[in-house]
Amino acid sequence: MSDESQELGITESKSHKPGEWYAEVVQKAGLADYAPMGGFIVTRPRGYALWERIQETLDGWFKDSGVDNVYFPMFIPESFLEREKDIVEGFDPEVAWVTQGGHDELEERLAVRPTSESIIAPFMADWTRSHRDLPLRLNQWCSVVRWEATETKPFFRTKEFLWQEGHTAHATDESAWEEVWTRLSQYERVFEELLAVPVMRGKKPEHDKFPGAKTTTTVEALMPDGKSVQSATSHHLGRSFAEAFDITYADEDEAEQTAYTTSWGLSWRALGALIMTHSDDQGLVLPPTIAPTQVVVVPIWQEDTKADVLEYAEALTADLEEAGFRVELDDRDERNPGFKFNEHELNGVPLRLEIGPNEVEDGEATFVHRPDNEKVVEDRDGLVDAVDDHLETIFEKLYDAAAENLEENVREAHSPEEILGTIGKHGGYVKTPWCGDEACEEAIKEKIAAEIVMQPLEDQGGTTAGDVVEPDRDECGVCGDPADEVAYFAKSY
Ligand code: AMP
Repeated sequence: MSDESQELGITESKSHKPGEWYAEVVQKAGLADYAPMGGFIVTRPRGYALWERIQETLDGWFKDSGVDNVYFPMFIPESFLEREKDIVEGFDPEVAWVTQGGHDELEERLAVRPTSESIIAPFMADWTRSHRDLPLRLNQWCSVVRWEATETKPFFRTKEFLWQEGHTAHATDESAWEEVWTRLSQYERVFEELLAVPVMRGKKPEHDKFPGAKTTTTVEALMPDGKSVQSATSHHLGRSFAEAFDITYADEDEAEQTAYTTSWGLSWRALGALIMTHSDDQGLVLPPTIAPTQVVVVPIWQEDTKADVLEYAEALTADLEEAGFRVELDDRDERNPGFKFNEHELNGVPLRLEIGPNEVEDGEATFVHRPDNEKVVEDRDGLVDAVDDHLETIFEKLYDAAAENLEENVREAHSPEEILGTIGKHGGYVKTPWCGDEACEEAIKEKIAAEIVMQPLEDQGGTTAGDVVEPDRDECGVCGDPADEVAYFAKSY
């Protein structure tokens, strides 16, 4: 390896120093940089391209299921924020305020949106007159600001982050539940089908739900370092926001009724989970579904073979392009093949096609899989189908490894010592019967930085809340009191 490629490469180890390794991958793979203000990042083209792919996918699904996009101001007048008391209390410590415009002090402070229920709900109230206006489904793609004290981790936790926030109003509780589950399923699909990250669905414990929500449902992903990521949330808001903001409608008998509302959000934390799950000590690893470049063709020539090799590589690249793959021909003169291999590995290109004089002569191409360096020689005839198959295999390799990590890391425990010992030793999830008392979570949290990240549900989906799975023993794993719920403890991002 030349000095230059060493500088390019990752120096930290994923297994020994996951935090440092993660920060290095994000920067060296050209995804993001740290901004001059603590807590903020600058998203670079390659990082933004990943976000765009999530955006396109999810936006398409939203539109196909009755959601319209809107855009609301980034500022919320304080008096609006105060109308729903749980939102004020819940977000108060994290709100950034604008108090001055130009040289003038503002009469009323403006909150930089930490979430937009309080500015969207009053308009939903205006736009909802009759039961015929419902369900009303709005979404906006924007950034929000939460002045969190916790350490910055690009994409996982930043003070300003990109997300989408959906806001809906419904005539019935059942219709609102259907909405909550529809969106949670779409989030699950983003993780499983686009990011190759298996997730578990569940609900947050009562004490950890979104401010003002009746129920917060969540999809959680397990990272290789044993920590859980709250990957996206879908909230049933009951009637609390509708009551606070007068979202009412005339029913079929012209009687005034209060609506039910939901909200749901997926942020660029999804990219954090993507990077953390698949990448390795060589750099970024991406499933082909989201990779901006799926296939890189690297020609390998000497002066006397250059013309033939290039011609062959160009024709093959054109075929792949025409078939719809995101393909790049790396024919840079000034870089040698080894440098190129390293660079594309660092940047997470899922499949590399090496083309040298032998390949040209034999009518072949050498395929190299990014995740595990598996090398396979394929015929030039049928190349398009072969690339398709290999990309699918690469996706499966990544998904299966992550699924195995998840399967192997859900353990049961039935005493505080066992819970602490298991998380301390293995990380992952510890499943235990729970009495429902927050104090039991505190007792664990005090000793080890783990909390109840979710509770599994039975019969989720449909038009009801679904019941929390019943425990197989009836004593709380922490305090020993009667327990009729199950809780998953884990360390989390
Ligand atoms: P919430 O509105 O609090 O339910 O947040 C919606 C989603 O945004 C959460 O499920 C997280 O995945 C994500 N999220 C929350 N805080 C942050 C943050 N500081 N940085 C990135 N993503 C975040």
